Amino acid sequence: MIEKKYDYLIVGAGLFGSVFAHEMTKLNKKCLVIDKRDHLGGNVYCEEKEGINVHKYGAHIFHTNDKKIWDYVNRFATFNNYINSPLSLSKGNLYNLPFNMNTFYQLWGTKTPEEAKQKIDEQIAKYGVKSPANLEEQALSLVGKDIYETFIKEYTEKQWGKKATELPAFIIKRLPVRFTYNNNYFNDRYQGIPTGGYNVIINGLLEGIETKTGIDFFEDKEHLESIADTIVYTGKIDEFFDYKYGQLEYRSLRFEHEIHDSENYQGNAVVNYNDAKYPYTRIIEHKHFEFGKQEKTIITREYPENWNKGKEAYYPINNEDNQKVFKRYKEESKKLKNVIFGGRLAEYRYYDMHQIIASSLAKVEEISMSKQE
Ligand code: FAD
Ligand code: UDP
Repeated sequence: MIEKKYDYLIVGAGLFGSVFAHEMTKLNKKCLVIDKRDHLGGNVYCEEKEGINVHKYGAHIFHTNDKKIWDYVNRFATFNNYINSPLSLSKGNLYNLPFNMNTFYQLWGTKTPEEAKQKIDEQIAKYGVKSPANLEEQALSLVGKDIYETFIKEYTEKQWGKKATELPAFIIKRLPVRFTYNNNYFNDRYQGIPTGGYNVIINGLLEGIETKTGIDFFEDKEHLESIADTIVYTGKIDEFFDYKYGQLEYRSLRFEHEIHDSENYQGNAVVNYNDAKYPYTRIIEHKHFEFGKQEKTIITREYPENWNKGKEAYYPINNEDNQKVFKRYKEESKKLKNVIFGGRLAEYRYYDMHQIIASSLAKVEEISMSKQE
């Protein structure tokens, strides 16, 4: 039998692939990590410019409730105490997010939780439904019409390129609704930005591991498959199977980065532009993630776009039709004993970073357990 050179060929140097490679290397497995981009890190990659860590693929704020995951990432980087508190610009007014007592005051002038609850309850009673079947019904049933129309409908429809009635309800449940004056976007216990940016974590995870960038798995598939016992694939699952059951839908993004010759552009890391008239959904000012005092500032406008084969896929669109197609690919993937599918694109799930790390660690654990049996 021909000896293979690597135990694992990991396709994709994002968080899933990097955690997997790190853990398997600790178990004395030989790993090669490849990525078609010209850098490691996948979507958490940061590029240093003007002394500022630019989140090249959009704002990334680490948050988790899981102490194990928090301790894990803290082994590779020191986290600051950044708390994400985005603002929303809607119909010419600025509001605090997520939906909390500050937002309700700015919207209705309500001062107490009781007043705000009454206002929302009245609207839910009028517009809400018992079993919401889509994002619009879910939003109306959670927060009522005013909030839906001011903050959700237009933003959501430009973000996803679909009517809110055609989108799954779970997307909107990501956002907290609370009756305290608390602008923290997340409910999780642990939160922050790694000092020095996310590359510090990725470099720590991949230290001592062989990596190659600028290599597309599909351009040299046969050879790459021949050099490893197992492939860990973190790209698009439909692409892996040459789209044989049809294309899954994704949402793409275009990022427009700008350097400004001023110290402070918008006074906050994230400002959402909720109205349909703005073609972008948010402007990020990167220095504020790390409380930067640099002379210049860098901002990024995030434009949602339709995905097609020449573009990066950023978000899976988990509506019913796509889930049906995904299920077929998933069944197909189970038949391949020497390929592991993991991460946001291969699992076709709207995962955050902490969930990706947990999923990768769980996969390593599952493999180690099965080898012990
Ligand atoms: P990726 O990072 O996408 O890595 C997959 C890698 O595989 C890519 O580098 C790709 O180039 C490579 N690849 C694909 N196909 C091939 C191929 N054929 N050959 C070689 N290489 C290939 N999460 C949070 O927790 N907090 C946030 O604030 C947050 N903000 C986000 C904002 C945006 C705009 C986006 C898009 C995501 C955000 N996330 C956030 C989610 C986070 O980015 C993901 O959970 C995480 O990065 C996914 O890691 P991954 O390894 O699955 O995928
Ligand atoms: N959303 C919205 N208005 C906002 C912010 C978010 O309608 O001001 C909706 C939108 O559909 C978005 C979803 O809530 O896709 C989840 O928001 P989140 O900020 O978690 O999105 P992400 O950072 O993952 O793009």
